[in-house]
Amino acid sequence: MVKNKEKTIGICRLCKETKEMSFEHFPPSSAYNKNTKYFSISHDDYFKDSEAESLLEFQPKGRKFQGGLGDNCLCIDCNGFLGSAYVREYKKWASIGMTLINQDGGNFKACGFTSVEINFLKILKQIIAIFICNNRPIFTEIYPGLIEFVRDEESTYLPSRYKIYTYLNNEGQIRTGKIFYTNLYGAVCEFTFRPFGYVLSIDNEMNFENLLEITGLKDITDYKKTEIEMILNKYPTYLPFVPMDYRTKEEIKNCR
Ligand SMILES: [Zn+2]
Repeated sequence: MVKNKEKTIGICRLCKETKEMSFEHFPPSSAYNKNTKYFSISHDDYFKDSEAESLLEFQPKGRKFQGGLGDNCLCIDCNGFLGSAYVREYKKWASIGMTLINQDGGNFKACGFTSVEINFLKILKQIIAIFICNNRPIFTEIYPGLIEFVRDEESTYLPSRYKIYTYLNNEGQIRTGKIFYTNLYGAVCEFTFRPFGYVLSIDNEMNFENLLEITGLKDITDYKKTEIEMILNKYPTYLPFVPMDYRTKEEIKNCR
């Protein structure tokens, strides 16, 4: 990922036009991503450099980024559109998640929660936008229907091949949302950034019982009058490049 705030010309991942790009925060800066400090490292470097030592002890080298996780992936118009259409609702959802992970000092494995007046259609569109931004432009050509879902504020249509799951997260590494083709789960993208993790599962008949599927929440017609009871599991993500691996540090160490 290119991490800078300078203006560049590029192909916008949402409208696909060649335009002046702007820096998009994902998740939105208002959702606890204003001053995130992080290292950016490629999948290959991660596995190459860490052969000799445990991946858990991996120390990234090089420049440390700050100012929030994100990329120059959207044009100014599309960035502005997401900001005005979905970010406020997403921020609300993130602040609920932050409250949930901080209860009982974070010492719990799952928690129940009743959502009131949360517009999940907007939240799901923001989540899909994050997956679009964090993958290469070809991603939305291989997997059509995602862009249309995000760009049309009112649309509840998302092809049934896509399923979105969530969980709570308060320990481990960021997972960037890039697509992985796995033996166990097929094609999955996973984006994890405190307080939530999201999995986009593509063409997978199997349901992930350990996660909460939220795809269907897009169809709630009157969110202001609908209460939704949900149980969210909380998982650590210590291995950034191993999607859907929720082992604790101890479990990973004991495997070696
Ligand atoms: Zn655009």
